[in-house]
Amino acid sequence: MAVIITDTCINCAACIDECPVEAIVDEDENPTGEEIYYVYADKCVECVGYHDVPACAEACPTEGCIQWSDVVDGMPASENRQSAGTPVVE
Ligand code: SF4
Ligand code: SF4
Repeated sequence: MAVIITDTCINCAACIDECPVEAIVDEDENPTGEEIYYVYADKCVECVGYHDVPACAEACPTEGCIQWSDVVDGMPASENRQSAGTPVVE
């Protein structure tokens, strides 16, 4: 994956319109069935080419909610990314 939204998500919608590639869906569209927002790993570009830091994590009011996940083969990866499971913005 690229970035992941954890179960601390409060469904506030602050992130969804910030994504430049429309990789985020709300709880109604979450393919896992969880009642939280979701990032499609095959769409997320970690904001490379758009922003210095993932825009979703900058917008998120919930501390540590958006975390780095594994790099997806063939997808852009931020130079400054941390390892999987680390909050993007602390
Ligand atoms: S890191 Fe950027 S591209 Fe990926 S979901 Fe967040 S806003 Fe979208
Ligand atoms: S901004 Fe954060 S808390 Fe709000 S919907 Fe997105 S991931 Fe969830």
